[in-house]
Amino acid sequence: MQNDFELLASDQHSKARRGRLKTAHGVIDTPAFMPVGTQGSVKGVSPRELCELNAQIVLGNTYHLFVRPGLDVIKHFGGLHNFMSWDGPILTDSGGYQIFSLAKLRKITEEGVEFQNHIDGARAFISPEIAMEIQAALGSDIAMVLDECVPYPCAYDYAAKSAELTARWAKRCREWKGRNGETAKRGLTDSPVRRFADSMLFGIVQGGTFNDLRRASAQAMVELDFDGYAIGGVSVGEPEEEMMRAVESAEPFLPTHKPRYAMGLGTPPQMLQMIARGMDMFDCVLPTRLARNGTAFTAAGTLNLKNAEFALDKGPIEENCACETCRQFSRGYIRHLIKAEEILGLRLITLHNLHSYLNLMSQARTEIENGTFDQFRKAFVAEYKTRDAIPVE
Ligand SMILES: [Zn+2]
Repeated sequence: MQNDFELLASDQHSKARRGRLKTAHGVIDTPAFMPVGTQGSVKGVSPRELCELNAQIVLGNTYHLFVRPGLDVIKHFGGLHNFMSWDGPILTDSGGYQIFSLAKLRKITEEGVEFQNHIDGARAFISPEIAMEIQAALGSDIAMVLDECVPYPCAYDYAAKSAELTARWAKRCREWKGRNGETAKRGLTDSPVRRFADSMLFGIVQGGTFNDLRRASAQAMVELDFDGYAIGGVSVGEPEEEMMRAVESAEPFLPTHKPRYAMGLGTPPQMLQMIARGMDMFDCVLPTRLARNGTAFTAAGTLNLKNAEFALDKGPIEENCACETCRQFSRGYIRHLIKAEEILGLRLITLHNLHSYLNLMSQARTEIENGTFDQFRKAFVAEYKTRDAIPVE
């Protein structure tokens, strides 16, 4: 596998790293936050706005796109980049997480997983090979192996068996990409599979909340030699200490010269804590999901703009925030829009929240370069706790 990850700086007081990942659609500076484009769209935000927010990569959900509009439609449009008009990098998940959290009547076998989708109940089947085929058709720059994401809590024996199955599935994903990629490269014509051969594939560490299973799963993934490694099965309802421990148990066994991705995380302080534990990439629906319910992220914690206290507030969501929302609009006006269910209201908060997440990553990168990341992290976490609405530590 190729190595397109360059480590530019490391923090002396924590495991924080500053890196750069090269893909066919552009460079990603790490630590990086990836806005989530569940249905081929980051809810309420256009690709132009994502560029203005300095988002360098978005995440696409294989499961959602596979169920609707379906692969044939996306193939017809020449892949997900063309379909959604985004020419930056795209990371696609394997669909595993949604199959295990959304779909009904799942049946897991060695071969793959059969399920009933949550939209029209149609039955479908995804195997490691099919997960690769779908991600190749989407035109993913970073694809993920098919994994089983176990719920919290999960018994030791089940978590162990499941992590072993995930490792066998990961091997099949790796082999599919190698085999079909080589064949496609021997052909003369350009094809999605040929392009996919040059894209990246990340392995996923599972193992629930058990240190030895996390370690064994990390070692099994590293043996298969992926382009990067994700920590999966975190942020599934476990207490925060368990989440930190899951990452701490796996991280020492991951190679330093490959990117690490903590899946489905988190609040701003959680991301900084994960960066300090050696993680490089994050994705999370919180900034877009909470915006739709009137909640804004600030350095001091979350703010519910529906609250009556903001009705006459002429100030921006956050003082000194450089986002477009804060430059132009007052808390009082945004509160009115949200109460009146005006679409602009949720869009303005979404833009602020995404700016807040992306800007935090940019700040973290600068602090790592300057050797001041650990002080920055501690000060941020302490300040955030004072007014926090989401428990962080
Ligand atoms: Zn703002």
